[in-house]
Amino acid sequence: MFDVLIIGGGHAGIEAAYISSQFNLRVGIITMPGIGLGSAPCNPSVGGVGKGQVVREIDALGGLMGILADKAGIQFRTLNESKGFAVQSSRVQIDKELYSQEAETLISSVPNIEVIREKVEKVSKNEDGFFEVLGKSLYTTKKLVVTVGTFLNGRLHTGSDQTSGGRVGCDKSVGLSELFSEVKTCPNRFKTGTPPRLHKDSIDYSLLEEQPSDPSVRNFHCMHKPLERLAPQVSCYLARTNELTMQVIRDNRERSPMFNGQIKAVGARYCPSIEDKAFRYPEKHVHHVFIEPEGLSLETVYPSGISSSLPQEVQDEYVRSITGLERAKIEVYGYAVEYDVVDTTFLRMTLEHFSIPGLYFAGQVNGTSGYEEAAGQGLIAGANASLSVLGKEPLILSRHDSYIGVMIEDLTSNTRDEPYRLFTARSENRLYIREDNTILRMCPYRTALGLTLPLDHYQAQFYSSYFILNDFCDVTMIPESSFILREMSGVGESQQLVKRMSVSELLRQAWLNPITALSRVLESFGISLDIDLVRTVAISKKYDGYIKRSEDHLEKVKKLDGMIINWEKISTSPNVSFECRQRISRIRPETFGQLKLIEGIRPATLAVVAARAL
Ligand SMILES: Cc1cc2nc3c(=O)[nH]c(=O)nc-3n(C[C@H](O)[C@H](O)[C@H](O)COP(=O)(O)OP(=O)(O)OC[C@H]3O[C@@H](n4cnc5c(N)ncnc54)[C@H](O)[C@@H]3O)c2cc1C
Repeated sequence: MFDVLIIGGGHAGIEAAYISSQFNLRVGIITMPGIGLGSAPCNPSVGGVGKGQVVREIDALGGLMGILADKAGIQFRTLNESKGFAVQSSRVQIDKELYSQEAETLISSVPNIEVIREKVEKVSKNEDGFFEVLGKSLYTTKKLVVTVGTFLNGRLHTGSDQTSGGRVGCDKSVGLSELFSEVKTCPNRFKTGTPPRLHKDSIDYSLLEEQPSDPSVRNFHCMHKPLERLAPQVSCYLARTNELTMQVIRDNRERSPMFNGQIKAVGARYCPSIEDKAFRYPEKHVHHVFIEPEGLSLETVYPSGISSSLPQEVQDEYVRSITGLERAKIEVYGYAVEYDVVDTTFLRMTLEHFSIPGLYFAGQVNGTSGYEEAAGQGLIAGANASLSVLGKEPLILSRHDSYIGVMIEDLTSNTRDEPYRLFTARSENRLYIREDNTILRMCPYRTALGLTLPLDHYQAQFYSSYFILNDFCDVTMIPESSFILREMSGVGESQQLVKRMSVSELLRQAWLNPITALSRVLESFGISLDIDLVRTVAISKKYDGYIKRSEDHLEKVKKLDGMIINWEKISTSPNVSFECRQRISRIRPETFGQLKLIEGIRPATLAVVAARAL
């Protein structure tokens, strides 16, 4: 008997298993044979805008993704570098073979995780309340986490060719209704797509713009040396579509499964195929195409930005119209996949199903798109399944201090009508939810899990040192001195300090780089500290003013959002409109915050609930 059994060994599944194993429970992953753990069927990269923050949150909560991305990282970049620290995100190009190998090595080194390579055909609950999972054998478990990605009734499309499968070369899973008769899927199926893969030696790189790896980007795992590279580094290259490329696509509109009615499912608006771009922006011909290596020893590159389900000969034609790709050889053609997704309004914030206690869902099966979103949910589902086995308090992240919290509240508050992906604008509090202060934000959640692993000791020390350095900045005064200022600015410019000020005040000066300035101050006192700690304090001080101003407001919002509500009572109240009652009884919000996010809820309803009149 397993304590926690996970179906699926993708990004969600391995996080669920890894966090569960930290509670010393008996954990199993049952996953289709022939697909490596943590494999990357689409873009060979981890992180990105909003997603880099999620990877660091996963890392600070004790997850795997940051460790694996560092080990398999072959090109590092900071996105939005020219913008403020709040929206900067790290992105790492990964060797996808190495990433999956590292996942296999790490998971197989954990003694209390068993990996079973079988396809699951049926799940049921026995009379003792345990789940029975039927693969080649029958397995019993107390809690079940389902992370089956794009495999539920998966159907692949390239032009008019259609095959069954969860991704190219892989079997599909039976539909959700065959796995569990009581779980409701979304009315619409979802769709995602991937570009053709090109042979790396068939590209003329001299015609493209090189993007080397940036040595100043920090590793994701907080206990790795921040700037150490664990794999050899390579470059990516930038190509561009042109008028001819877009014309080829527009001329073949009727052959595109997305536009001729063959694909009925809905794709992600924020991750458009090249066909979507051609018809959504008819005036635009130039779109970026990033040529990304898939691995150090793999022969293929991934042309990011031109995912497509057009027929093979059309893919050949439009790819070869791009400067530098005139002789490109397509090794694997692009395709789209349609699949069933769970209606996430039936899930609690713990990702447990409302009507089937002990059953959790995480990852792409919940209608999200992206490895990071999947991994973040996997960690939350796995942790909650384990905490529930142990009879402990659940792990629920707030949207006010984490992107994972934003995502889960968004998912559980509305039936999704298109694939969901994270970006910084989804958060109301993005000045605070930054990459640099992740440990600060996640440490209290991690501490509440009651674990005592090396990560916990590292974070506890970081957390207490943060407050010491913070106080140091408040009480230490800097005298007027242009010489010190020149040293601090790090850009060779100096400004006369008009008054004596504390280090905290100094760090808020717009013309200073706060990290360089704090480092210089500490050097002048002969103090040497962990550079990540210095960064966190320096950037936090920079945003102090803005954050303090919104803190009061947020405190009130947070209190109200966290207020537990009785949805059953509200959905039968005569003081609430019929339409709102219907929506509330369908979505079953547990908190005021969730109620607020439901589409179509009237201000009057919110007002009576907020006033605790119900
Ligand atoms: C064609 C394609 C294009 C994509 N495009 C993008 C993109 O552009 N951008 C992006 O961010 N993300 C994209 N993705 C999504 C990305 O792959 C997923 O977000 C991510 O892999 C989801 O992780 P997951 O753990 O939920 O599922 P997966 O990584 O898909 O893992 C699912 C696991 O479940 C197992 N499984 C399924 N059914 C069963 C069963 N019955 N029994 C046992 N095991 C089972 C499978 O073996 C697999 O290991 C794409 C995926 C595909 C397939």
